[in-house]
Amino acid sequence: MKHICILGSTGSIGTQTLDVISHFPDDFLVTGLSAHQDISRLRQQIQQFKPPAVCVVDQQKADELAQTVSIPVYSGQDGLKQLVELATHDMVVNSVVGAAGLVPTLHAMQHGKDIALANKETIVMAGELVMQTAKEAGVQILPIDSEHSAIFQCLTGHASNDIQRLILTCSGGPYLGKSREQLKNVTVQQSLNHPTWNMGAKISIDSATLMNKGLEVIEAHWLFDISGDAIDVVIHPEAIIHSLVEFKDGSLQAQMAEPDARLPIQVALTYPRRFNRIVKKLNLSKPLTFAEPDTNSFPCLNLAYQALQIGGTMPCALNAANEIAVERYLEGSIDFLEIPRFIEHVIHSHQPVRHPKLTDILRVNEEIRQSFSALKIP
Ligand code: MG
Repeated sequence: MKHICILGSTGSIGTQTLDVISHFPDDFLVTGLSAHQDISRLRQQIQQFKPPAVCVVDQQKADELAQTVSIPVYSGQDGLKQLVELATHDMVVNSVVGAAGLVPTLHAMQHGKDIALANKETIVMAGELVMQTAKEAGVQILPIDSEHSAIFQCLTGHASNDIQRLILTCSGGPYLGKSREQLKNVTVQQSLNHPTWNMGAKISIDSATLMNKGLEVIEAHWLFDISGDAIDVVIHPEAIIHSLVEFKDGSLQAQMAEPDARLPIQVALTYPRRFNRIVKKLNLSKPLTFAEPDTNSFPCLNLAYQALQIGGTMPCALNAANEIAVERYLEGSIDFLEIPRFIEHVIHSHQPVRHPKLTDILRVNEEIRQSFSALKIP
């Protein structure tokens, strides 16, 4: 029986992880849950899965929950650390949204926990540090992001020097085929409406700008130790092929399934075993199409490649700029095309630190957040 702690259990990936676990009650035990502030959903999850401890990041909500449950309720960022270090967990699923996922991930690894990683920002901000920490602690990082799960599955059993290229598929998001002119006045509601995947707000906007794919290129670089120029992106609107690996002999291997995040979650939780299917069976009668990404309408993709190539803290700066720009877009204070303009501005002004330590990464993340209000977007 594998003991699982889920950070961000009330979000989209968190609830889908619990759904997977509920199908295999003899194989998994929930040993910890955390939420940012949605204590009503967390309370339901506590009743159903009976974890021995939980954490609520928002202090007031943590106090409120503690009055009504009989298990320990940790709180704040320190509470996340206290939760993940408990001896009971074998694996920590990180489905926190954004930069907040970094510190608990490092802490969990340092305490010997394998990580199932949905929080790509963690690895974009601090790829070198995260991979180094995993290596030193002797723990595994299993990707939950569907593209990286696909590549992980395709690479199993192959030598790294046989790999020629990784090809990440991209559905294209809600604005596939639109010109810059047409993107000028798109509403937040339209941007949130992803055609194939059902996801949280941050990642839905990232999918609309294609920054999600840019972050995934950086994520793939670190997870699979492949240089950025050997990672390509192809538009595949049906989202059936979840990514491909090209080997040096010209053979390509792909992983296919209906777009349902529960499958990569299941793969991560059960690895190296395979459990029975809970997702819809793939219908192979539909045509599959592919196209080049339009980097004129969606400049975020190239900005991510640039940040990866520059290296050091530049991907961290890119991620922080993107997070804050998306927050401002969601609250209505900037428009859609200002998201890449702000990020580009940050890339041009940031002086990267080489081989950053955790303190460098947290400082850069904080500085860029603070710079937003002082800056006029060009
Ligand atoms: Mg993905």
